[in-house]
Amino acid sequence: MEKISFLDQVNRNFDKAAAFTKHDPTLLEQIKACNSVYRMSFPLRRDDGTIEVIHAWRAEHSQHKMPTKGGIRFSVDVNEDEVMALAALMSYKCAIVNVPFGGAKGGVAIDRKRYSPRELERITRRYTFELVKKNFIGPGVDVPAPDFGTGPQEMAWIADTYTSLQRNELDGLGCVTGKPVHLGGIRGRKEATGLGVYYGIREACASPDDMRLIGLTPGLEGKRVVIQGFGNVGYHAAKFLAEGGASIIAIAEVDGAIFLPTGLPVEKVAEHRLEKGTIVGFPASNTLAASESALELECDILVPAALENTITMDNVARIKARIVAEAANGPTSAEASEHLFRRGVLVIPDSFLNAGGVTVSYFEWLKNLSHVRFGRMEKRFEERAFQRVLQVMETATAKKLGDDICRAMVHGADEQDLVYSGLEETMLDAYQETRAIQKRLDGQADLRAAALVGAIDKIALCYFEMGIFP
Ligand code: GLU
Repeated sequence: MEKISFLDQVNRNFDKAAAFTKHDPTLLEQIKACNSVYRMSFPLRRDDGTIEVIHAWRAEHSQHKMPTKGGIRFSVDVNEDEVMALAALMSYKCAIVNVPFGGAKGGVAIDRKRYSPRELERITRRYTFELVKKNFIGPGVDVPAPDFGTGPQEMAWIADTYTSLQRNELDGLGCVTGKPVHLGGIRGRKEATGLGVYYGIREACASPDDMRLIGLTPGLEGKRVVIQGFGNVGYHAAKFLAEGGASIIAIAEVDGAIFLPTGLPVEKVAEHRLEKGTIVGFPASNTLAASESALELECDILVPAALENTITMDNVARIKARIVAEAANGPTSAEASEHLFRRGVLVIPDSFLNAGGVTVSYFEWLKNLSHVRFGRMEKRFEERAFQRVLQVMETATAKKLGDDICRAMVHGADEQDLVYSGLEETMLDAYQETRAIQKRLDGQADLRAAALVGAIDKIALCYFEMGIFP
């Protein structure tokens, strides 16, 4: 079977969507092209004194809006092609959810398990130094974030390195997002991608008409969900979906999958993994030796939440889910995605569904630029206003409300409340916008193509307004 690179897959999806638009081919070529790629190699002194050469990249796909934005992944398999593909996805993703950034992505070709924390710190700081040298990082230039294999610790090292080098830059902390809360991070960023996945799926399942089309009842209640990948995104998506009434019947990880038809208790599985280092062997669950077989289980919603190319022409015919909800970037090959569409399976595309991370990164960046925590100015003011309304109500009705009701009613929004509500608004809005485009295209396009049509139109508009393309 022909092996198509990840970048070609992303471009194939782009071309398919572009065919639904009437834009000038040169403009489409400009939107599709990856504008800049910085490839670097630098030496790392290991703890035992030996030297190793580290290879890394940062790709900025589009500067139609500034800064550019996207995570940094630490993975042995990362390469230039992958980083460019992921950077392009970031441009489209930001446009789809109306986050005013261009797209970028970084990669460091390492297996982080092979390095000590001190070595990882040296790699991260040197990588940041290289980005600074070539002007590939800065609050108004390019703002990295966590991705596969990185988290708040790496973001803290990046922020510290950047701000030590650019000492007078007032907005320096806005050079990276996904930082620990006490270092300029924002409450709600850690769970943001998984929470966005939940909001997106919930919204897709809410429409009775759309659910009828795929033979499901509306709502999340009782939907059987399979989660592939139990990292930060997979774990949080599973947690919120279960809280929303769905039943997580299987979870797959690299070393095996667990299956329980009555539903797995997500929190307990996470505790088991923390204790034993694996989800396999979770009490009362059945173990599936081949992790991939979980993808083929009878279920309503399949959530691939690991890496790209999970659903391909090799296994697509055996996928039984009615909804494939792409929490990962690029988990379904372009051809497999077309196959699912033809079979009437609803694919909720990555470019929309996993945009919760970058959306909350946007809120974090705004917080860094404004130098004030969300909710700090208005929380108490709101609470007093609610209290006055409550008093008037109690006087008018001559009834005293219970303590619990009063507490809930007078609660002023704190940072996490505002982040959750901003994310919910963003995801719901983007879903409805995308669904409206799909309807306009008369069912010819799947949701992925519809989302990309929206992205292309918005990016094209920037070029029109800049006066570059007539
Ligand atoms: N790495 C995440 C993504 O692929 C987050 C990017 C960001 O927050 O900038 O969307």
